Amino acid sequence: MNIGVLGAGQLGRMLALAGYPLANRFTFLDTTGHPSAGIGEVMVYTDQHHLDDFLAKVDLVTYEFEHLPVALVQAIEEVRPVYPSSEAIRVCQNRAEEKALFDRLGIPTPAYRLVEHADELEAAARELGCPVVAKSVTEGYDGKGQAVIRAPAEAHDAWRSINHPKLIVEAFVDFVREVSIIAVRGRDGEVVFYPMAENLHVDGILRYSLAPMPDLDDSVQQTADGYIRALLDELDYVGVLTLELFQTRDGELLANEMAPRVHNSGHWSMNGAVTSQFENHLRAIQGLPLGDTAARMPTCMVNVIGQEGDPAAILAIGDAHLHRYDKSERPGRKLGHVNLVAPTHGALMEKVRTCAALLPDAAEPRFSFE
Ligand code: AMP
Repeated sequence: MNIGVLGAGQLGRMLALAGYPLANRFTFLDTTGHPSAGIGEVMVYTDQHHLDDFLAKVDLVTYEFEHLPVALVQAIEEVRPVYPSSEAIRVCQNRAEEKALFDRLGIPTPAYRLVEHADELEAAARELGCPVVAKSVTEGYDGKGQAVIRAPAEAHDAWRSINHPKLIVEAFVDFVREVSIIAVRGRDGEVVFYPMAENLHVDGILRYSLAPMPDLDDSVQQTADGYIRALLDELDYVGVLTLELFQTRDGELLANEMAPRVHNSGHWSMNGAVTSQFENHLRAIQGLPLGDTAARMPTCMVNVIGQEGDPAAILAIGDAHLHRYDKSERPGRKLGHVNLVAPTHGALMEKVRTCAALLPDAAEPRFSFE
């Protein structure tokens, strides 16, 4: 099976690494001009000729990047099976569409308004009560295209700095922690769920993900499972879907956003779960049985951002697994991650601190359960 992947970054690279044992081959179609997968065959899409070549090589198509022209994915769908479908991309690349879907399925979200003018932004900030977070409805990722507004008078500056025709404005959630749920739906509709992860972000960029959480009530996991199952079924989805949520003081979950793909907050599963998110995505899209999502042991994923640190020192930590993306160093760039595995959360946090001290740009690891 030759799998076509739209996008050619580190997520595609890790999909390929998981697929080689299944005798899959990979052809990537990059639309950004900056492919970094460094594996399989990478084609840079500039015209129809490249698209035809790509389609001639592949049996089915998936993606590792959702900021793709929907029309391109729809055109591909006419020729080859695409999992997940273009409808998932259409919804997930637009925060307004995403929130409308959450509303329709009864999945709670922070209170929000859609605005198309600086004055409307100021009115929304007043109505929702500051602080609020303004986000461009499209094209934002890793905290880009966003601003926190602490007083309505800041709305005009925020409007100018985001510089986008349509924004979503959300009440600022006083969360206990940020969490995510990752689930996989097979072609036959079977769904499996990973244990939820706690995610630490700094400046909008994910730094650490830890799963399973030591203090997570079963009922919270079940609630999240129910939300993501509703999304998967509604979209007749095939593959891995990620839903990011805020957990509030009373244990309630509020949906933030979703990603129609394997996700950074699921990288822990490469060494911490029976079956990784990457393998399970490949199983799902090929119509194979889904693998066990159970965690083997408490696991923490530490993102390597900006500078690599000393790989040998990192690998000297027991049960540490370094995944490098073969990219050049640049401030704020995701260069790799380390998965740390330990029998207890106490032992795990010791390893996490040791690892963080070895990474020049690491943020302080501070989880809600400590
Ligand atoms: P997003 O791109 O929507 O995932 O936002 C990036 C990060 O900004 C999130 O991971 C949160 O840390 C923070 N954030 C986004 N929306 C809110 C909100 N409504 N309330 C509080 N923090 C938020």
